[in-house]
This record gives sequence, structure tokens and C-alpha cells, in this order.
Amino acid sequence: MKFGTKAIHAGQEPDPTTGAIMTPIYQTSTYVQAEPGDHKGYEYSRGTNPTRKALEDCIASLENAKFGLCFSSGMGAIDAVMKTLKTGDEVITGDDLYGGTYRIFTKIFAPMGIVFKFIDFTNPDNLKQHITPKTKMVWIETPTNPTCKIIDIEAVAKIAKANNILLSVDNTFASPYNQNPINLGADLVMHSVTKYIGGHSDLVMGALCTNSEKLYDELFYIYNACGATPGPMDSFLALRGIKTLHIRMERHNANGIAIANYLKNHPAVDKIYWPGFETHPNHEVAKKQMRGFGGMISFTLKGDSKEQAFKVASSFKVFALAESLGGVESLIGHPASMTHASIPKEEREKVGVTDSLLRLSVGIEDIEDLIADIEQALTVK
Ligand code: PLP
Repeated sequence: MKFGTKAIHAGQEPDPTTGAIMTPIYQTSTYVQAEPGDHKGYEYSRGTNPTRKALEDCIASLENAKFGLCFSSGMGAIDAVMKTLKTGDEVITGDDLYGGTYRIFTKIFAPMGIVFKFIDFTNPDNLKQHITPKTKMVWIETPTNPTCKIIDIEAVAKIAKANNILLSVDNTFASPYNQNPINLGADLVMHSVTKYIGGHSDLVMGALCTNSEKLYDELFYIYNACGATPGPMDSFLALRGIKTLHIRMERHNANGIAIANYLKNHPAVDKIYWPGFETHPNHEVAKKQMRGFGGMISFTLKGDSKEQAFKVASSFKVFALAESLGGVESLIGHPASMTHASIPKEEREKVGVTDSLLRLSVGIEDIEDLIADIEQALTVK
């Protein structure tokens, strides 16, 4: 089946008791057993719930994976992955990560003895010199948040595989519509479902997908034992949102192209970070591994003034000034003081997260209204 058909049908059968076409919200914590151990596959909703299971199977199918697991947030999913590691294990990761990922790595798991190396993956071969016998995992985001660096997943996967290292890819920025890391050799894909998959800014959720039964079993154990699993109502909302993922992404991609090109010619704009430009250092890789360039665009203002960036960010009328991304509505953010505030100033400035950097999550509104809004905000005095 192709993507749009899977988005609407995968994991979902009409309800066996009533024929309801939509997977019901199984709002139950427990399930009756005929005698101890004789149940219908569901025992307790921390571990398994039919609404969540339908969603997990649907997301896995969109990532061309055999197995999917949903968590109560994207961070809950990352937490579970890191719990597969032991003290002394090393993780090689990118130098431009979502702030919350950087925070959980450096403030929660590093003090427990897991070693994180933050490197530039623009040239994948750079990875080789950082690998040691203790390296157990490579964790990358591509496009990166917020400077939209592109990492060649296939090239990184080859190096990881040759060294028996697990490759995990945070695919939140691209969405399963624009990029499928497992097809490119990744072992594990992570999503903040909160973003494009949910798509309506009405829930917080995470997901993991893999083809490895061994890894799935290990993650399922952590998921059930630690309990960061989402409830049935949020699972239903995500299932509802996912049905239009392909249509939404086409519009995010189209609006992204129009806005990036508009910003390119604007006198108030300095640098633009967007993988669709031929001048982007890894444009060819983006073209090879992505179906579209998405709706995430970051840019700096001429003069690099924080005050002006704050003024511009607060002047939008259609774009809302808010954390998060990937919803139908357009958002503007100031990464240095919002999504990436947990990264020390010297660290974030090294990768371009300066005080005048603004990040757009381009929604699916009419493009004329979005461009008019950017125009009035950029010319604010
Ligand atoms: N990964 C990326 C790239 C993100 O942007 C986010 C959230 O913004 C997360 C992970 C964490 O997901 P959540 O907010 O659902 O916990």
C-alpha cells in the first residue's frame, strides 16, 4: 500500500463488536480475564491498549517498520531509548540537537555514566574518528533543529553497521512523509508525535519504530516497566490527525518553498537555513533522502540584534509566537530563548543559534496571508 492509504487504514480494522469504522477510544485501565492468564491479549493499559495499538501499528507502517511503540511524549521515547544503555557506554550524537534532547543527554544520562560526544555530521566520515569499542549508539536528527543541517543517513548507517553500532534517527522535523530512515539503514526511528504526525497542536506524544524484534522487546520492557505510555484519548486524537498527514505535508512543503524564496530576497534577512536551496551545504543529500523539504525554516536578521528579533517575533498576526512545530497553524519561535534555552550560549552560538535567529514552522494556511504577515512583521520599527 502507498503512503496515503496506509495513513488512513494501517493498523485499523472496523471495531469487531459494533462495526464502528473508527477505532474506539478504549477508555479502560484493565480487562476482564476468564481465568487467571486467560485474556484477549490485553491485561492492563499501561502495557497495552487497543486504541494505542492501532496508532502504533499505523505509525510503524508509515515508517516501513515492523514494530511501533508510543510514549506519553517525545522525551519519554528518548528516555526509553537511553535506558537500553549501561554506565560506560558511549553515544555519538549531533552538535545541533533539540534543546530537550541535549538536556536529557547532558543533565540526566551523562551523570549516570553514559558518555555523549557531540560532533558535526555534515561530513559523515567525521564519525569514524570518534568511534571507540565503547560506542554503542549514534543518535542523529536530520534536518537538525533549528539550523536545518542535513545528515546523510545512508552514509552514517553504513559506518554504524560496519562498527556494530545502533543508529537512531529523530525524524520529527521531516515526518514519515518526507523521510523514512529505516529504508536508509537506520535501526530505530523516533518521533515527537506532538509535531507533524499529530499535526493539530492538541496532544503531546512520542513514538519509536524498528524492524528489530530484539530491540522492540527490550524497548517494550522499558515502556511497560517505566510506564511513560499515552492514554487512549490522545491515541485517538493522533490516529485522527495521522489520516491527513500526507495532504498536510504536501501543503507544508509547498508553503515552505514559497516562504524560503520570499525570505531570500528580503532586505531585513541575513542567513536562511533551509535544505531546499541549492546553496545549502547538503542540498544534494536532502534531495536524495527526502520527499520534500518541509515547513521548518530558520533565519537571522541583519544586525543580529536580540531586541529587533524579539520585536519581529512579537509582531506577527497570523503566525503565533509559541514553542512547538508541525501543526496546521504557522508558528514563530526565538530558539535562543525558547526551544534551545537549555543549551549554554557558547554552545548554541557555535552552531548558529544566535540571538537574532528566528524559526518558522510554516503551517498550511493560504500562502498569501502568510507572506503578508511576514512582510509586516519584518518591517516593524
Ligand atoms: N525531538 C525534536 C526534534 C523536537 O523538536 C522535540 C520537541 O520539540 C522533541 C524531540 C521532544 O518531543 P516532545 O515535546 O513531544 O516531548
